[in-house]
Amino acid sequence: MSENCLFCKIGTGAIPSQKIFENEKVFGFVDIHPQAKTHLLFVHKTHTSNINDMSKDSTAIAEVFQAIAEYTKDKDLSTDGFRVVTNLGPNAGQTVFHTHFHVVGGEPLGHFGRR
Ligand code: AMP
Ligand code: ZN
Repeated sequence: MSENCLFCKIGTGAIPSQKIFENEKVFGFVDIHPQAKTHLLFVHKTHTSNINDMSKDSTAIAEVFQAIAEYTKDKDLSTDGFRVVTNLGPNAGQTVFHTHFHVVGGEPLGHFGRR
């Protein structure tokens, strides 16, 4: 838990969210400004600031992807497909500095790349 961290507070429930997944290590919730029909965020409960910071803990990275796999299993999301994105720093437009993984889908997505 890092003080004044939005996603740590969402993790504890101090700030409300539309949670769609939770286990001991990871939670997932609906993005408040969806960029596609389905736009979820998956977050590890251990605070790190971005994916490079999180890379010191490969187990945590695996736990997030296992949570995504568990959640999407047997859902249209996994048969129709989805995209996982994590932003680091200003060029990528990172705005929340607790590592998070966007899961976007629910419709065909534009090609990934430049604005
Ligand atoms: P990023 O720009 O990659 O740092 O992603 C941060 C994401 O968090 C954005 O897509 C925001 O829409 C989302 N977000 C910010 N505040 C909340 C909130 N209170 N509940 C759900 N999603 C949020
Ligand atoms: Zn945090």
